[in-house]
Amino acid sequence: MNQEASGAAHAPRLFRHYIDGEFVASATTFDDLNPVDGTLVARVCEADEASVDRAVRAARAAQRAGWGETTPAQRAAWLQRIADGIEARFDEFVAAEVADTGRPLEQARSLDVARGIANFRTFADLIRTSHNECFETHAADGGEFMNYVTRKPLGVVGIISPWNLPLLLLSWKVAPALAMGNCVVAKPSEETPGSATLLAEVIHAAGLPRGVFNLVHGHGPNAAGEFLSRHSGIAAVTFTGESRTGSTIMKTVADGVKKISFELGGKNAAVVFADADFDAAVEGVVKSSFTNAGQVCLCSERVYVERPIFERFVAALKARTETLSVGAPEDPATTMGPLISQSHREKVLSYFRLAVEEGATVVTGGGVPTFGDARDSGAFVQPTVWIGLPDGARCVTEEVFGPVCHIAPFDTEAEVIGRVNDSAYGLAASVWTTHLARGHRVAKRIETGIVWLNAWFVRDLRTPFGGTKLSGIGREGGRHSLDFYSELTNVCVRV
Ligand code: NAD
Repeated sequence: MNQEASGAAHAPRLFRHYIDGEFVASATTFDDLNPVDGTLVARVCEADEASVDRAVRAARAAQRAGWGETTPAQRAAWLQRIADGIEARFDEFVAAEVADTGRPLEQARSLDVARGIANFRTFADLIRTSHNECFETHAADGGEFMNYVTRKPLGVVGIISPWNLPLLLLSWKVAPALAMGNCVVAKPSEETPGSATLLAEVIHAAGLPRGVFNLVHGHGPNAAGEFLSRHSGIAAVTFTGESRTGSTIMKTVADGVKKISFELGGKNAAVVFADADFDAAVEGVVKSSFTNAGQVCLCSERVYVERPIFERFVAALKARTETLSVGAPEDPATTMGPLISQSHREKVLSYFRLAVEEGATVVTGGGVPTFGDARDSGAFVQPTVWIGLPDGARCVTEEVFGPVCHIAPFDTEAEVIGRVNDSAYGLAASVWTTHLARGHRVAKRIETGIVWLNAWFVRDLRTPFGGTKLSGIGREGGRHSLDFYSELTNVCVRV
């Protein structure tokens, strides 16, 4: 990170806000800690209400100064330049993600930073090739009309993002918001400010007009997140995070009747039919339960396995889970890093205890690994598998957001669909079967925004992404993002 954003060349680094084209500090700071060993990554400026207000005013001024009037081709070129900028500093982005999250280096490379770049490139391509609706209309009196749609930017978009996939989820919103001609005030999670600060540096170096992109650091309630969402100068809030936080933000924006897009929590199911490719299903469930230490909104924490293969599946999942290597990011053998923080570990461990109280049998894990070195100060837990809980148990209904799944047997297709849908959440599901018709039938009946058949976490950025029920409001991705980040006007012309 260069001196411009980090404030000083000597340690500890200081992550500053980026407002109106300048990196600015604030008097109050908080610590950004490395979850591998608890060491200090950086001090981070905490935005007060006046700083957030300055950021929103700068964004509004940039909007009025003509950002919204730029052509799609011009904005596509800016997005490509940002993507090039991330690519040029790829290793720094990887280091920032790893320092803030402790995830394996390879994951930061192949998933987080690669997707950050892809988000900018995808929306650059999409706006270059996007088209609008047009209808020829014939009225009863013989009049002929042409209806066509034009798109306008919303104005200033407030972006509030979580810590679990920091750059990926921030850029998933920044790219389409800018692509559609909006100006942005972004607030990344207080747990993971590093890659967002680097993104501000890249955008600064790319020469985007001042005020088009602004970044404020800080916490959520009664802090930067809340100041941003309740600011009267923003036109929309796009938020990814916990369902409870989404509900709070919804109340905050209600008076202003602002447009919202919410990508929230999940309690996702994996369904394994007896006719599934057994090894692929075991591998798929290991991936869907333990990727990023279970801290992906799409992870499956509920696994339903058809009774004839239940015992065999539990044994195979246990064996495969025990091959996972929990450790430090730079060790090439590591397949699972720590949780994001000590406080999140406390939450996950409270579910480990609760599961036992609720009557679970712990198939594997259930505790904290010991290393005999600095990692013992980190936020690690063991990948954990439970069986034996009733469907109504809190550990089967509430999102843990850790490396854990509960496996339950089922007998019929109708029964398992009912149990999958009997959830307050509706984000994603994966179904493992070689019975083609059944796969499609079950996918159609599952009440989630996303269903994978014999796959998990395969993402095509043009497809709709989002959840039902407590898992969110709206869809982003492809033209769905273009729709959210723009206002449509229908023009009806007599011809
Ligand atoms: P969180 O809700 O605690 O925080 C997310 C962001 O909201 C942070 O930037 C935080 O500072 C801010 N915030 C918190 N309270 C706020 C308030 N009152 N007003 C305004 N902003 C506020 O979520 P998290 O712990 O960072 O992320 C994990 C959660 O995110 C999990 O529930 C996970 O399922 C969910 N998630 C969902 C998706 C999805 O696409 N559906 C993707 C990733 C994560």
